[in-house]
Amino acid sequence: MKSRREVPFYRPPIGAGEIRDVTETLKSGWITTGPKAKEFETKFAVYVGAKNAVALNSCTAALHLALVAFNLQATDEVIIPTYTFAATGETVIHAGGIPILVDSEPETLTIDPQQVRMHITPRTRGIVAVDLFGLPCDYRQLKKIARDHRLFLIADAAHSLGAVYYGKSVGTLADATAFSFYATKNLTTGEGGMLTTDDRVLTEKVARLSLHGMSRDAWKRYAIGGTWYYELLEAGFKYNFTDLQAALGLRQLARFSDLQKKRAQIAQWYDSAFCKIPEIILPPQKQGLKHAWHLYVIRLHLKSVKIDRNRFMEELAARGVGTSVHFIPLHLHPYYHNRFGYHPQDFPVAFATYQQVISLPLYPALSKADVKYVIKVVQEVIAKFRQ
Ligand SMILES: *Cc1c(COP(=O)(O)O)cnc(C)c1O
Repeated sequence: MKSRREVPFYRPPIGAGEIRDVTETLKSGWITTGPKAKEFETKFAVYVGAKNAVALNSCTAALHLALVAFNLQATDEVIIPTYTFAATGETVIHAGGIPILVDSEPETLTIDPQQVRMHITPRTRGIVAVDLFGLPCDYRQLKKIARDHRLFLIADAAHSLGAVYYGKSVGTLADATAFSFYATKNLTTGEGGMLTTDDRVLTEKVARLSLHGMSRDAWKRYAIGGTWYYELLEAGFKYNFTDLQAALGLRQLARFSDLQKKRAQIAQWYDSAFCKIPEIILPPQKQGLKHAWHLYVIRLHLKSVKIDRNRFMEELAARGVGTSVHFIPLHLHPYYHNRFGYHPQDFPVAFATYQQVISLPLYPALSKADVKYVIKVVQEVIAKFRQ
């Protein structure tokens, strides 16, 4: 029983294939945006079933450019969940809008459509929904609200590549969907992102904005047969995706269904052990939805244990298990308090959830023995501090 392991919170699944493909691209003479980036866009669009995909240097960039393309004016409001990462809020601000935070549904922890409805004003322009931990939001309701009020709907799918909503893939459910390829995300290129959409005009606009506002194929200007001439059509950004990143991304995409199967298997192992522990609330799932299992987030029944979440994490760390907290709701951060006057109790579901959550290790490189060890350690700590 004293066999102490180290199970880090995360390790990216980078194999010999990734290393070989990146090395080949390094030797190819073309390392920034080029043919590999184009190939990755094409294959990614096919994978999710979207008409268009634009590769960018982060999901934050994808959210930012989608919002810029929707042309926000200074008093325009965009409804977002408070229970999310920094990027969902800051991009609304950088695009010139005002983020209006709303609470989560208690059952799924994703943005609560009822709350969205209650926060619509004549200034509301759109909604950014977040597929928290990999579980798709209530897109039926959100799309209906967007249609009824003529709002745009952007999906922040940083967690949900591979998730399916009643038969439709994430990436096809909103007007535009932003994916992340950050180091810890389900498919990684180190840093990177993608915007998918069926809207041709939006695609062209985002592609142009991603490279200084130059016409779409300006990346070819240094290629043989490419033209040196370009025109600046607007003030753009430097958000383009490189062929080095694409070499990684293409390899990861080819392995993606295997990587996802491993994540789902681990989540299932955790579920079947933790469903027997009444002090633990399992991650929400929903009939008809395929979870992408980006994060495995348990919640503690705080009334039935003698310790708080932070102490629980320390106890796991002392036994070699790395954990994290996703997320500190936006409204609890000083910036949102100071600028918009939010208070902790404004969003009771998010506030209570934040105090209960612990993200456990969940990644394809975990062995069954690692998972068993995490389960054993969680059981042990719960048994020690049960009320
Ligand atoms: C990781 C993450 C992002 C940002 O992704 P980047 O690719 O790092 O910009 C956005 N939203 C959510 C919910 C995230 O978890």
